[in-house]
Amino acid sequence: MPVFSPLETTLFLVLLIASTVAFGLRFGGVVRRILQAKPDADFKLGSLGKRAWDFISEVLFQTKVIRERPLPGLAHAFVFWGFCAFALITLNHLAAGVGLAFLSREGWFGRFYFDFAAAFAVAVAVSIFGLFVRRFFVRPRWLGEPVSVESGIIALLIFVLMITYLPAFWYGETKPLWWAHTLALLVFLPLIPHTKHLHLVLSPLTVFLSRGEFAHIPPLAGDEDFGLDTGKDLTRIVALQAYSCVECGRCTQHCPAANTGKILDPKKIALGVRDYLNDFGALSEEPLLGKHLSQEAVFQCTTCGACEFQCPVGIEHVPIIVGLRRGAVNTGKWEDAYGTKLFLALERNGNALGFSATERDKFIQKQQFPVFDGTQEYCLWLGCMGAYDPQGREIVASFARVMAHLGTTFGVLKKEKCTGDPARRLGNDLVFQQLAEQNLETLKQANVTKIVSICPHCVRTISVDWKEFGLAPEIEHHSEFMARHRNQLPRADTDDKIVYHDPCYLGRYRGVYDEPRAVLARSGEVIDPPRSRERSFCCGAGGGLAFLGEETGERVSHNRVQELVATGANVVGTACPFCNSMFRDALGAGTGAAAPPQLLDIAQIAAASLPK
Ligand code: SF4
Ligand code: SF4
Repeated sequence: MPVFSPLETTLFLVLLIASTVAFGLRFGGVVRRILQAKPDADFKLGSLGKRAWDFISEVLFQTKVIRERPLPGLAHAFVFWGFCAFALITLNHLAAGVGLAFLSREGWFGRFYFDFAAAFAVAVAVSIFGLFVRRFFVRPRWLGEPVSVESGIIALLIFVLMITYLPAFWYGETKPLWWAHTLALLVFLPLIPHTKHLHLVLSPLTVFLSRGEFAHIPPLAGDEDFGLDTGKDLTRIVALQAYSCVECGRCTQHCPAANTGKILDPKKIALGVRDYLNDFGALSEEPLLGKHLSQEAVFQCTTCGACEFQCPVGIEHVPIIVGLRRGAVNTGKWEDAYGTKLFLALERNGNALGFSATERDKFIQKQQFPVFDGTQEYCLWLGCMGAYDPQGREIVASFARVMAHLGTTFGVLKKEKCTGDPARRLGNDLVFQQLAEQNLETLKQANVTKIVSICPHCVRTISVDWKEFGLAPEIEHHSEFMARHRNQLPRADTDDKIVYHDPCYLGRYRGVYDEPRAVLARSGEVIDPPRSRERSFCCGAGGGLAFLGEETGERVSHNRVQELVATGANVVGTACPFCNSMFRDALGAGTGAAAPPQLLDIAQIAAASLPK
């Protein structure tokens, strides 16, 4: 290590203090804004084991970053691992400035560690160069426009840090090399909290402090909680997540709204909250929907969860978006004729389609469905689509035939209401609560212990959202039920090629991917569209959007149907009555295919192979 004169040491110390103060001032401001936000009433640290595992997997091993974008993800992971490896080298480097270097090549550990860091220096230099080329020359549109100059400066500084380490490692440290490395470090440090590189410090905490459940909507905390209306409603977790966004655009890339010309961009939701906090702070009464966040965008979300699934730093977009909807609905700021009609239909008729309950009674009588009386094994939950939508009714009837064939006893409720799913996702907690409580009372009186449903939205709402009002009943989706009994279902001898569409609320929300495929595999060859399983593309119906009228831009369902048709399959297999309804309209609008595929739910496909 070079020996420094007192003047050089003094200069180094002055620069080090200036850099640290510049870091601390800005970082302290961010921490203050986060802590000014109100605590999350529902937050529980819960299982530390799961949190530790998520931290190890997503932060230390960078699994999500690599899995979703393998090449740039690996490059990013090497930069991260390089940072970790260089922590000790950096401390030693700075300590050398005051003559207190503690790593020496004389000892075995020093020898090993300098070699180890050199290997990472090469990997980081190559990786950061690759990421630079990608951002500034390949320029994937998801990274956003204009290209960020700060990203270029940061990439340059990281590159300088590596290439000033390597010659020192190979040929020995010199003063010019030491100073070059030191200056790069001292410029880099204060840039961290001023740029998206703040995620270096915050994202490990964000991942560790996740709400622990995918797309979890926290309950409102009492009568005074109207959702996210002003800065005062922002919680610490939301603020922490907003400051953690790394602006990678993965959420945008997979968002059905952003992909079909809507103004909603999930990245801008995270950045909008951050900009709001920077402008107004968490104690402000300035409305959240305004300068930095758009109400129109917030109500374009299908709550498909693709953004949240993709986000490498643990940002939970769905609760933020639903929170903003709550704020707009509960304060009367959201005025939408379709929304008003939907809420009225739910309140007056107990179903989202606005039919009289007698229509449901007539359907039940026509199908001769037994009423649940406590002696049957399952309560067959019809849902709004299964009870009132013509295609949904066919799906329910087909599934009932499958159950009868299997000898499983079931009954339907005399008075079943909507689960409250669209009200919940659109931010109307009052209507949601009324429906959930009425249904829970009905189920209790009927002594229901097991429910099965054709609708993933009903399954999610009953099994997760209703927990707020007591014990959530045991429920499964018909794909899970049929997959369990598949060996008792006949095989169909067909040449059918079935393309299966993963519904968001069954796949990403419930993790059910193989079961519907296993059922379909008995009736033909099952193929996947390019966007499938966790990366499935929404049908456009979720989040209450099925009831909100015309979309702007391209219809999400049309975009998805084109992809399904392009596989050349002669059957489109669905497992959700909402997807089925959206695709029915999209196929009806024409796809340009010579022979459009047949659209069938997995229950209809399974029932077709039963003896007549
Ligand atoms: S939940 Fe889906 S529609 Fe909503 S912002 Fe995220 S990706 Fe877009
Ligand atoms: S919200 Fe997450 S996925 Fe979206 S840009 Fe920010 S870090 Fe990337």
